[in-house]
Amino acid sequence: MDSICIVGASLAGIRAAQTLRSDGFSGQIVLVGDELEKPYDRPPLSKEALFDPAYNEGEPLYLVKGQDYDALELEERLGWRATSLNVEERIVEIGEVGETITKTEQIQTDAILLATGARAINIFRENLAGVYTLRSFEDCVVIRHELLALAEQVESKQAKSKRVAIVGAGFIGCEVAAVARWLGLEVSLIEMASQPLSRVLGEEIGACVADIHREKGVDVHLNTMVEGLIGEEPNRVEGLYLVPFVAGEGNGATPKTAEKEELPADLVIVGVGATPNIEWLEGSGLALDEENKGVLCDEYCLAAENIACAGDMASWMNLRYKKQMRVEHWDNAIEQSKFAVRNLLAGGTSSKSKGIQEPFAPIPWFWSDQYEHKIQLSGIPSIDSKTVEFEILDGSIEEKKFAAVFKQNGKVTGIFGLNTPRLVMTNRHLIESDFPFPP
Ligand SMILES: Cc1cc2nc3c(=O)[nH]c(=O)nc-3n(C[C@H](O)[C@H](O)[C@H](O)COP(=O)(O)OP(=O)(O)OC[C@H]3O[C@@H](n4cnc5c(N)ncnc54)[C@H](O)[C@@H]3O)c2cc1C
Repeated sequence: MDSICIVGASLAGIRAAQTLRSDGFSGQIVLVGDELEKPYDRPPLSKEALFDPAYNEGEPLYLVKGQDYDALELEERLGWRATSLNVEERIVEIGEVGETITKTEQIQTDAILLATGARAINIFRENLAGVYTLRSFEDCVVIRHELLALAEQVESKQAKSKRVAIVGAGFIGCEVAAVARWLGLEVSLIEMASQPLSRVLGEEIGACVADIHREKGVDVHLNTMVEGLIGEEPNRVEGLYLVPFVAGEGNGATPKTAEKEELPADLVIVGVGATPNIEWLEGSGLALDEENKGVLCDEYCLAAENIACAGDMASWMNLRYKKQMRVEHWDNAIEQSKFAVRNLLAGGTSSKSKGIQEPFAPIPWFWSDQYEHKIQLSGIPSIDSKTVEFEILDGSIEEKKFAAVFKQNGKVTGIFGLNTPRLVMTNRHLIESDFPFPP
C-alpha cells in the first residue's frame, strides 16, 4: 500500500493518520474534511468550551498540535467534502465547500478509511432565530455567545430571568442543561421517555439523573413531546408547545385528549441524537445498514476490499455480542480507527489466512460530566432485552455516589458509575469474563 485517503478529518480520521505513521507507513496520506478547522475534540463542546471564552478559537481543542501535526505529513483537503466514491477503482471525488461546489478533484488511492461521523438531528422545520443543535465547534461558539449574552442580561438585571429550553435529555442535552444552570439561567429539560437516559440506563438510574438536575433547579418535563416552536419566522423563538407523550410499544403516542402547554423560552437547544453522514455513499455499491444506519462493515471494519470504516458512521459486526452495531462514543472512534487502518495496512481483506489480526470486538465505554457529577458506563446494559436489571456494587443511589452492575440472564452486561470512575475501570473484567472473546 503506497497511498491512503482518509475521509472525515475528526477524531477517527486523525487517530488513523497517527496510527499509520507510528506503525511506520511512509506513503501518501490524504486527509479530506468538510470543516475548515483542523481535527478537534468534540466532548468539550457540551462542557467547558460551552462557557469558557478561552475556547474562542478552535486551537485549544485540536487533537494534534503544532509540530506533531506537521510531522504527520498529511496532504490536507480541509474545507473539501467527499461527494462520491468509486469502490472498484478506489476513487474519491471531492468538492470544495462553498455556497455551491464548483471546484472538484478526484483522489485515486490504494486504500480508503471512511470516517465521516455523524451530524445532529434537528426536528424543527420552522426557521426561527435562537434554535440550535450542537455538534461542531462553530455550533458551540454560537451557542456560547447566546448563553453568555442571556446570562449577562440576568446578571446586569436587564432581565429578571432568561430560560433555555433543551429538547431531549440525552447525554448532550443533560450536559448543556448543567452549563446553562451554572451560568445562572433558568433551564427546562424536555424528554419524551419516562426518565432521562432510561433507554440506556433503565428507570431507576434514569430517575437519579433526573434528580440531579432537579436538585440544581432544572425544570424537568418527562413523558413530554415538543409539538412545535412558538414564534413568527424569521424572528426569534419565543417558546415551545408541549404535549404529554406516553412511551410504549412502537413509537409511543400522545393521548387524543391532550392539551397543548406553552413553555416560554429565550433559547432552544435540540439534543435528540445524531445521524451518520453516509448519504454521499448511496449508489457507491457499499451496503448501508438500514437498522443501525451507518455503512455496513464486517467484523474487521471492512466495507469492501481495501475500504474500511471507523467511528460514528461505522456499523460493524461486533462478534463479542454477535451483533451488528454502531457506537457513538469517543473511545470507540479512537480504537476502531486504529484497528481499521492497521487492517488496511495488513492487506485490507477479512481473510485471516493473510495474517490479519483478530476481529474488532470491544466492550463500549462512555463518560459524561454533568455539574460536579462524573458518569461512566462500560458495556451495554440491555444488550438482549428492553429491560435493564442492576445490582449496586458500592455506594448508594441516594448519596449520588455508586457503582452498579447490570445483569441479564446471569451475565454481567455493563458497569455504571456515578462519581466512582475508578470502580468502573477496576470492575470492567466482570463484563469481560461474561462476554468472553473469542466467543
Ligand atoms: C457535543 C458532543 C459531546 C460529546 N461528548 C462525549 C462524551 O462526553 N463522551 C464520549 O464518549 N463521547 C462524546 N461525544 C461523542 C464523540 O465526540 C464522537 O463519538 C466522536 O467525535 C466521533 O468521531 P468521528 O471521527 O467518528 O466523527 P465526527 O467527530 O463526527 O467527525 C466526522 C468528520 O467528518 C466530516 N464529514 C462529514 N461528511 C463528510 C464528507 N462527505 N466529506 C468530508 N468530511 C465529512 C464532519 O464534518 C466531521 O468533521 C460527544 C459528541 C458531541 C458532538
